[in-house]
Amino acid sequence: MAVIHFERWHQKARFHNPLKGGILDTQDIEVRLDPLTGHQSMYSSALEGKTSILFPETDYDYLRRRAEETRAQCFMCDGRWNSTTPRYSDALLPGGRLVKGETVLFPNLFPLAAYHAVVMLGESHLRLLNEFTPSLVRDAFCSSVEFFRRCYESDSTIRYFTLNANFLLPAGASVIHPHFQIIGSPFPATHQRLLLEKSLAYYEDKGSCYWIDLVESERVLKNRCIARTGDLEWLAAFSPLGVNEIDAVWFNATHLLEWTEDDFTHLADGLCRVLRAYHDMKFSTFNFAVFSGPTHRSSPEFRCVMRLVNRQNMVTHHRTDDYYFQKLLKNEIIVNPPEQLAEFVRGYF
Ligand SMILES: [Zn+2]
Repeated sequence: MAVIHFERWHQKARFHNPLKGGILDTQDIEVRLDPLTGHQSMYSSALEGKTSILFPETDYDYLRRRAEETRAQCFMCDGRWNSTTPRYSDALLPGGRLVKGETVLFPNLFPLAAYHAVVMLGESHLRLLNEFTPSLVRDAFCSSVEFFRRCYESDSTIRYFTLNANFLLPAGASVIHPHFQIIGSPFPATHQRLLLEKSLAYYEDKGSCYWIDLVESERVLKNRCIARTGDLEWLAAFSPLGVNEIDAVWFNATHLLEWTEDDFTHLADGLCRVLRAYHDMKFSTFNFAVFSGPTHRSSPEFRCVMRLVNRQNMVTHHRTDDYYFQKLLKNEIIVNPPEQLAEFVRGYF
């Protein structure tokens, strides 16, 4: 095992500050680098008082109103998915869709990859973050991986899978009804490729798996560790890609088809715990992506990893949280320090 170095440095910004009577003010900016990818994130304590401007609290009246206004047209509600959603061929998926409990998997009408499916999460059109149940989420994960298995068995060039979610409009969802989006492609997604390439380079350099070294190093430091549930380690990201990023790292599985029954249980349970914590932090939206290694081999240099982040809250005329700083510079702002975030979320495990 190699010890991971968590690199950070500080910059000073100096200016005459009208908020402090025009004195020459100095603000400290901490810059963090992701140990694998070098991704930068910045923390400034001066922004602490600006959180309510950056992320105003969810307007639940507005959220409920939007849900009411869209329920009648929702193609998933009241069993309408039966007649409105596309179907795969019986050769790929007998019956064309995959129904498990209250979840239904069907093709995305406008796919972005060879295999791009949607999974409806339950009958309810609107769900708050504290209303996702482990059994519902587990069914959706099980169907997703069953679909991936069928894709890979029917076409072995489809080796790169991601399991994703956009929850609510500020997170990119076009419908309020909770759903996952799952993608299978002959090529890895851009960030997936970066993780795979960097993991391989690390493995060749150090002779060990970055993800195992990351978990072991974080466990020594303790302050970003949240919990270990079965094979999954839950962590607050040192240099997050989004607001309040929580990651789950698998100890054994290198791709999704290696998941055990326990993995599904712990993933669903842990995700629901984090969502409850987000809810109590007054956040209402999220994105996540689960990254898998290629399915044609086990990759000793890689482990499955889920990144889960908040997005802008449901408020009228919401301002995006993804602007030039994230979208083009590929940096991120740390709103809640990861160490404080971990301490808070730990209380939910
Ligand atoms: Zn609906």
